[in-house]
Amino acid sequence: MPYTHVLGYPRIGARRELKFALESCWKGETNTEQLEEVAARLRLAHWQRQRDAGLDLLTAGDFTLYDHVLDHALMFGALPRRFRSVVGETGTATVFALARGTSTEPALEMTKWFDTNYHYLVPELERGMSFELDARRYLEHVREAQAVLPGVKPVLLGPVTFLWLSKTVDGSDRLALLPGLIGAYRGLLAELAAHDVAWVQVDEPVLGLELDEPWKRALRQAYEALQGAPRPRLLAATYFTGIDHQLDLVRELPVDGWHIDAVRAPQQAQTVAQALDGEQVLSVGIVDGRNVWRTHLGDALARLRPLHERLGERLWLAPSCSLLHVPHSVAQESRLDPEVRRWLAFADEKLDEVVTLARALEHGEDAVRERLAESDASLASRRHCRRIPHATVAKRLQQLHPRMAERAKPYAERQQLQRQALDLPVLPTTTIGSFPQTPEIRRARAAHKQGRLGAYDYLQTMRAEVRRAIEEQERLGLDVLVHGEPERNDMVEYFAQHLFGFAISEHGWVQSYGSRCVKPPILYGDVFRPDPITVDTARYAQQLTDKPVKGMLTGPVTMLQWSFVRDDQPRERTALQLALAIRDEVQDLEAAGIRIIQIDEPAFREGLPLKASEWPAYLDWAVRAFKLASCGVRDDTQIHTHMCYSEFHDILPAIAALDADVITIETSRSRMELLDAFRDFAYPNAIGPGVYDIHSPRVPGVDEMLALIERACEVVDPARLWINPDCGLKTRGWAETRAALANMVQAACVMRERL
Ligand code: GLN
Ligand code: ZN
Repeated sequence: MPYTHVLGYPRIGARRELKFALESCWKGETNTEQLEEVAARLRLAHWQRQRDAGLDLLTAGDFTLYDHVLDHALMFGALPRRFRSVVGETGTATVFALARGTSTEPALEMTKWFDTNYHYLVPELERGMSFELDARRYLEHVREAQAVLPGVKPVLLGPVTFLWLSKTVDGSDRLALLPGLIGAYRGLLAELAAHDVAWVQVDEPVLGLELDEPWKRALRQAYEALQGAPRPRLLAATYFTGIDHQLDLVRELPVDGWHIDAVRAPQQAQTVAQALDGEQVLSVGIVDGRNVWRTHLGDALARLRPLHERLGERLWLAPSCSLLHVPHSVAQESRLDPEVRRWLAFADEKLDEVVTLARALEHGEDAVRERLAESDASLASRRHCRRIPHATVAKRLQQLHPRMAERAKPYAERQQLQRQALDLPVLPTTTIGSFPQTPEIRRARAAHKQGRLGAYDYLQTMRAEVRRAIEEQERLGLDVLVHGEPERNDMVEYFAQHLFGFAISEHGWVQSYGSRCVKPPILYGDVFRPDPITVDTARYAQQLTDKPVKGMLTGPVTMLQWSFVRDDQPRERTALQLALAIRDEVQDLEAAGIRIIQIDEPAFREGLPLKASEWPAYLDWAVRAFKLASCGVRDDTQIHTHMCYSEFHDILPAIAALDADVITIETSRSRMELLDAFRDFAYPNAIGPGVYDIHSPRVPGVDEMLALIERACEVVDPARLWINPDCGLKTRGWAETRAALANMVQAACVMRERL
């Protein structure tokens, strides 16, 4: 029978046990032993589930208390120099010091794991460093798993991907560290062989990228150097895209098998299979590890059969990538619409799909007849569901006209009109949208959700918060106000709740970083906005003040990127549907007298495909979706957008093409360096570079912000500059928010005097 396994399993726990255990440990309510106990219980439960589902191999080494990339760095002794005097032995305390920072050292930088919303910690390397293996914890996990089932396949981040994800703090070449690193990997592989491990999964997702020659050479060098010594067999794992552009490497690298993503890149299964030698195994990622839809087992079998004929025992089956990116189990979704629930497979259900497919290949379809029938019925129910297609939406998509995605006048003329309409000072001050989500706000929302607080009382509570936010902002002297977003639990889920085509799960949490989880809404049908969503609140806020209040929306690309989206139509089409819904909201806000509308797109960059050659196609429709959402307004209505990350240089043409009147970005931590790229590109529209970091409770002084504003004024024409924090303030308290914004307004005033 084909071997069955997973590349990784969610670690947060079906009820987010790890999150709560971490957070109570950080608060000092529990100690690390108690935390470790919870972690050990979760690992055990997760392995038992894999075993009971009938997988042949258990996966170990995928569990982590915070982040697997950080664990890998520490296992190889890559403790950043700046932490060496701060932390002692490499234990749990060290992990948390690096992940969360200490009183003297900021945390390691966090960045997105390829095109996902999972954030890993960037290892800090330096020239000439040595790698010393300390695999005690890792090996302990392997032994724990072996006690559940002897067939255990540990997972390791491959050496080349590890270097790719790291940065050097001294600007030296990461690849120079490869030989030393390989020595440590050899040591680890020898240990694993001594632990009766037959197979190791070595993750090298960088193979999916369009690598240049030095990185390809590094892959050859690395795997040649891992040969020879006593070691388990190696399964090189790739995912999120195809590797059929690297067939030369597939042929050359001396590994014992390959895992490929046959969901994102179905075409590669045959070509990669042909490139294998007669011994190598092919693990086919046939079940979607990035999305929540049930696999159509009949179709999957039809695709697998020729591979099975060709490869026989050498065919393995798995989900396409680690299940880290999906929630634990559909079984706990008792409140979800039963029809939608029937279409879904989270991690546990995916285990079952993989095993069913293997059984069908080996014993014939009769052995799993019931499962196949269920799968057919689920697909048929989805295909024929009358709630999925929406005639109006289809018609509107057909009638799209390029003019709908363009403002009537160019930016320079709009700028004049908006200046007259809004009458703002130079260097106008504003915030990004949310104000502190106080315990009272959270309590009211929970009470409302549980039916303990009626709609009327809930509305009054939220209005009181809006009033408070407006009063605070007036007192602070900000120029463009916001309503503060008290009614939003989450910037994506809030809109999903008010749109047709979305379902909201109850426990569908996915780890974002450390203890932080997100609950992506499930976008299953044509998106349609039955009624205005934010207009009442915006109108209420605007009527409390003479200053302009910004309407606040989440953009189509971010809605798409942070949801589980349908796989029965191209993402582009879904993005355009979202765009139309948001466009309606934008126009209704304008009609209600809102003169400035911000459309947040923090996930715009995250959507970039792994292969750079596929970027233009993505950027093309992503830009179109944003413009469709934002361009249906008068020229004197001002459109803002907000993006919070610090890498823009390679997508600036697309950012400029969005043609937002104002873009607010995160720049304080890079000390405005980012603005240089905007200047070099001659970015034409207005920019609000963040003048303070909102991730910490620290209140920056007037001088500190003034220095940043001065720097910004040197780089960008002050007539096109706005003054704002890096991002929304919902995680902060009111005291620090008030103090920081007061300083920000003062810094802006001082600078205005100097202009
Ligand atoms: N308007 C949102 C807020 O202020 C933006 C959040 C984000 O950029 N992630 O919270
Ligand atoms: Zn932001």
